Amino acid sequence: MTFRHHDAGEDAYACAEIALAVMREAGAPDIASLARRMNLTRERAGQEARSPDGIAARALRGVAPSRPRVPLLHFVVRGSSGTPYDVRLVETRDGPRLRCTCAGARFRPDCRHVRALANGEIDALLSDNPGDVAALAGLLQTG
Ligand SMILES: [Zn+2]
Repeated sequence: MTFRHHDAGEDAYACAEIALAVMREAGAPDIASLARRMNLTRERAGQEARSPDGIAARALRGVAPSRPRVPLLHFVVRGSSGTPYDVRLVETRDGPRLRCTCAGARFRPDCRHVRALANGEIDALLSDNPGDVAALAGLLQTG
């Protein structure tokens, strides 16, 4: 199928295709129930029509992953054999937690790299952000 940008008919057709695809993905029986699920009911859309970010922006936010509540802290640590591992702060159901890419973390989430960073140890830190390690203590306590 050919598609011409900024042709009103083509744009409408593309929008409909996207809405139908999201509907299928969400398992919604019709557009109205999809809109309700996404909090895009007619009343809300009308009330916020003059807001700088319109219905399209909010629709995209509805399907895009929500913004994490924890800062995006990322560390690189040197494993015992010299292999670098990524350790990231992620939001979990139990609060902010560190997640490591090492093999051990698959069986035990608080692997030695996670425990070291949580304890403020920076001996194995390869990334240049020891300040972020210091900030971890406060962040992990809140969880
Ligand atoms: Zn690890």
